[in-house]
Formats: sequence, structure tokens, C-alpha cells
Amino acid sequence: MTNKNQIQQERWKASLQNNYGAPEISLVEGSGAQVWDAEGNEYLDFLGGIATNILGHAHPDLISAITRQANELGHVSNLYSHPRAIELAEKLKELTGSTNARVFFCNSGAEANEAALKLSRLSGRKKVVSTLGSFHGRTIGALSITGQVTKRKAFLPLLKDVTFIPFNDVKAAKKAMSKKVAMVIVEPIQGENGVVVPDLGYLKALRELTSKHGVLLVFDCVQTGMGRTGEWFGFEHEGVVPDVITLAKGLGGGLPLGAMIAIGKASSLFEPGSHGSTFGGSSVACASALASIKFLEDQGILERVKALELTLKLEISKSPMVASVRGSGLLIGIVLREPIAKKFITDLQNNGVLANATSDSVIRIAPPLIISNSQVSHFVEIFRKVSASYER
Ligand code: PLP
Repeated sequence: MTNKNQIQQERWKASLQNNYGAPEISLVEGSGAQVWDAEGNEYLDFLGGIATNILGHAHPDLISAITRQANELGHVSNLYSHPRAIELAEKLKELTGSTNARVFFCNSGAEANEAALKLSRLSGRKKVVSTLGSFHGRTIGALSITGQVTKRKAFLPLLKDVTFIPFNDVKAAKKAMSKKVAMVIVEPIQGENGVVVPDLGYLKALRELTSKHGVLLVFDCVQTGMGRTGEWFGFEHEGVVPDVITLAKGLGGGLPLGAMIAIGKASSLFEPGSHGSTFGGSSVACASALASIKFLEDQGILERVKALELTLKLEISKSPMVASVRGSGLLIGIVLREPIAKKFITDLQNNGVLANATSDSVIRIAPPLIISNSQVSHFVEIFRKVSASYER
């Protein structure tokens, strides 16, 4: 065997567990939104580590922030404070627009949602309302509030007291409210479910309902946060503020970092000993996050994300194989007219573009937020070429 990708695949199979299957290509180098595999093939990375590498690969600002921090101070545990965690918490607080928000740092989206779940228990209530089709993570707590049967069924029984209601259904949410409900958790856009966008007004209605019933409202912005939708958090266009925001993915600019931001009364539920994480809010990950946010702010990237959304939606929807294009900012779901999404993304990959299929008929793109106009044009050109090969 001489193909270096295949060699890596065999080594993977022999030494890593089979929970992801063995990837066919092995990426060895990246720069911005370009990546190269072990055979030297170049790809345009339109998945960005699944909505994670907001500044792409090897961004000079991240490299210098991470290097500076690693030179200055490494891991300190939670027995001591360090400046980067405080600076980042202050920055996130500022971005929420709330003067009484407080942050808990962890390492991933599942952990951020676990933290929200534990926080909600401290309200004295136990029930959780979540939505069908949602994805909140793979740990037992996060999986218990994830509304996807395929991911849950091998691990039953999960936590009790979780009710799943249809997404985007205000009536169902109203029916599910009671004095026993501790929290309602919802993604502003269901990412893993195929970039499903609720009607305008849904999040606001949830805010009104939860406030009326004394229920904590948690917006899981793990996929829709940190500028992905052209806003800092994927719910801002509704003009509402939840009690809890969970973040991960883009937050660390590619390093593992999650956050659970509690706002208002919810911010005082945790007390010393309530929760913790050894690595949560590590100095290097926080330095990377601060540098990412600074770059997005200084360069006005969020406005650019909104403009690129319009271009991509317009151009992609011109392909006859496309039934609809949905999403917000640079989190876009392309609904195909036929159930060929898996074959379609293999064809994109063979033409040097990375994307993924969330189901048989939906392709998701979530490129780095720093993609250039020419990279957008290149994506559209390759997308059209592949699409044309299916047109009869
Ligand atoms: N919540 C949402 C909305 C997600 O999209 C994901 C991951 O895709 C998670 C939670 C879980 O994040 P992690 O894989 O970092 O645990």
C-alpha cells in the first residue's frame, strides 16, 4: 500500500476505537480555509472543523496569542485565578449585553450543557423540556436532553424527567410548562439536525412562556455562537435574553473551550463545590479565544458573515438539484431534491471541497468566518459543477 491516506486509515483502524468509523483522508496541514491531506491533495475547508475553526488554520494572531501565553503561564488549576480567564469572562459578559452575567468555563459543548443541567437542578425543580431533533452532546446528561432517537437508543435508560416537544411549536411548549419544569433548552438553529431554522418569534415566545412559569431558558449556542450566524449569539435577532447561554466550538478558535453563561438570578445558583472542571478555562485556550474575538471585532467580520450568507444562498439556490437553502450567516443547510447528499459530498471532496451531509438530503457548510470572496466563488463553482453532474 503506497497511498498515504490509506496507510493512515489502516493505522487509525488498528489503534483508535471505531466510534467515528475510520476517516478516508488524513489532514496534515492547513492555512486559513485551505487544508492538505497526507497525499498532498488540497481542499477548500467549507466545514471548518464543524463550525469550530472560526479563523481557519494557522491564523497568525492565534499562533502568537497561544505562543505568548504558553511562554508566560501554563495550566494553573482552579485553585488560582489567572488573567486570561477573567478577561475572557468579562468579554463574554460584555457580548451578552448583560451587567449581571457570570461565566463557568469547561472544555466542550456537552460539558457546557451538563453544567446548565446541573445549574437548573439548583433551582429546586427537576424537569427538563427539550426539542425533538435537537443535539446537545454525547455525555449521559447531555444525551438525555438530546432529541435524536438514533443517538440515544443504545444507552437507555437515560435521565428521567425529560419531555421532548416538536421544535418551532409554541403550542407544544405552552402545554409542556408547569411548576415542575426547571429548564427549557433549545438551539436557536438546530445544527446537527440539518440547519433547521425556527420561525421568527419562536425564541421570543419561549422567553415569554419560561418567564411566566419561572423556568430557566437555555439557548444552546454551541454551534450558532461566536459570530457563526453574523451575531455573537444565534438568538440576538429576536431581541431576547435567555437565562443561560452555552458555548463551545468556535469559542476557543480551534482549541477546546466551552462556557456556560448564566444571566441574572441564574448566575448565583452555583456555589463553591457545585461544579468544576480541571482544564476548564485554561490559560492557553482563553488566550486563543480572546485573540479570536479581537480579530472578529477589529476586522468587522460579523457584518461580512451576513453579506457572505446572502451571496452563498443566492448562488447555491440557482442549482436545479437544490430544493432550498436555509440557515443563518455561515451556517448553511442545502436541501437537495433527491436523497444523494452523501454521494454529493464525496464528489465535492474529490473536487477539492470539504462539507458534510447531516442526512440523506441535506448538506451542511460552516466554513471559517475569514473565507475570502474568491474562496466563496470557488466553492460555488465546484458546487455547481457537481450539481450539474446529477442533472438529467
Ligand atoms: N450542542 C450543539 C448545538 C452542538 O452542535 C454540539 C456539537 O455538535 C454539542 C452541543 C456538543 O458539543 P461537543 O461535541 O463539543 O461536546
